[in-house]
Amino acid sequence: MITPIVRQREPATPAYAERVPFKVYTQRDIDRIEALQGLSDAQRFEMKVVSSVLPFRVNQYVIDELIDWNNIPEDAIYQLVFPQRDMLAPGHFERIAGLIRAGADKAELEAAITEVRAELNPHPADQMAMNMPLDAEGNRLDGLQHKYRETVLFFPSQGQTCHSYCSFCFRWAQFVGDKDLRIASSEATQLHDYLRAHTEVTDVLITGGDPMVMKTSHLANYLEPLLEPEFDHIQTVRIGTKALTFWPHRFLGAPDADALIELLERLVEAGKQVAIMAHYNHWKELEPEAAQAAIRRIRSTGAVIRAQGPLIAHINDDPAVWARMWQAQVRLGIVPYYMFVERDTGASRYFEVPLLRAWEIYREAMQQVSGLARTARGPSMSASPGKVEIQGVAEIAGEKVFVLRFIQARNPDWVQRPFFAKYDEHATWLDGLEPAFGERWFWQDEYDALRQEKLAAAE
Ligand code: SF4
Repeated sequence: MITPIVRQREPATPAYAERVPFKVYTQRDIDRIEALQGLSDAQRFEMKVVSSVLPFRVNQYVIDELIDWNNIPEDAIYQLVFPQRDMLAPGHFERIAGLIRAGADKAELEAAITEVRAELNPHPADQMAMNMPLDAEGNRLDGLQHKYRETVLFFPSQGQTCHSYCSFCFRWAQFVGDKDLRIASSEATQLHDYLRAHTEVTDVLITGGDPMVMKTSHLANYLEPLLEPEFDHIQTVRIGTKALTFWPHRFLGAPDADALIELLERLVEAGKQVAIMAHYNHWKELEPEAAQAAIRRIRSTGAVIRAQGPLIAHINDDPAVWARMWQAQVRLGIVPYYMFVERDTGASRYFEVPLLRAWEIYREAMQQVSGLARTARGPSMSASPGKVEIQGVAEIAGEKVFVLRFIQARNPDWVQRPFFAKYDEHATWLDGLEPAFGERWFWQDEYDALRQEKLAAAE
């Protein structure tokens, strides 16, 4: 029996209870964004070229509250949302720019864009082939991913966009309108049937895009049934979001903000652990008053906010940025959770950081903060076999190596077993590393067999 928790809900302050209009700009609107008027035509053209391949979306709150326009293009949040020319390889850039300049017809341009996108590894870590579960008849369940035993990811179709897009987004393929590249479902029944049949699952992660773009009523359709006794095995409801950065008014004065807060309260009071998995890259995201008011309001429901985000060149490849961000999070009652390595997809050529540097940044940042901020794990690669953490560099039997471990893995038995890679100061991802002290990773044979099995089943 779980005793209901009675809490005083943080009221939205009158200023935030007011409705702030949500105004959004996409690729077609680049010339209409007032703040960009200071750029040259050539610079705006570059943005249009890049954003014809990779998704672009920004809203007025981000433009007004988060970007220091006196410091562009270096400003971290400007880099976080606005496309930069070097995000595309020179060959890709020139190809698309040439077609646009020549006034190529729509079909020719679209075909070229599709080809370029296909070369940007749209579904890293075998997401499409290996993570999508099958039903009893062997049909693929769109909109679900079940990679780790305890956790199921659900991609509601109403949540497959974000209030702004991150320029480095690893799920960019979700946003480019190509149905083959989308993972989404609006099937609440499918989610519930799957969870009913899989009592080993303890955690559901509602993800996207950003589920917080959905109306509260949609979110409630997915989540409220989980309060029934048949779902007692679901202990934790996680919601992945960047709305605390991109649109904190979602939790304050938005039309159904109160309903959202009440929904979180109901889940908590019914005994679920509710974790808001907030995506943060920079301490600047935590500074606006609205962002802090939204954090307070969520925390007043009893939900926990955990912070995670990738380490990204041009945005946060600096230990001081991470240390200041983690400290600010702890001060605001947020639990630092993960530092990820930028995935090998989309514009990774522009944003990736070598693993060695990533580990150095993590270590130097950790050295600057107190124990409460040292809850962030990383740097971690969400690779196909599992989440691989770089624990450090060591010298073993005269050989310099990376020490690695699985934080999470397709086979739970692999978790927390240290393993070693040859030292490589340029590698940026697991597949760029080679095993040390042997020819193969300890998990390789088992992983290869699992992969073959999954690929065969998915055909
Ligand atoms: S919030 Fe997440 S899903 Fe949305 S654009 Fe950023 S990285 Fe992508």
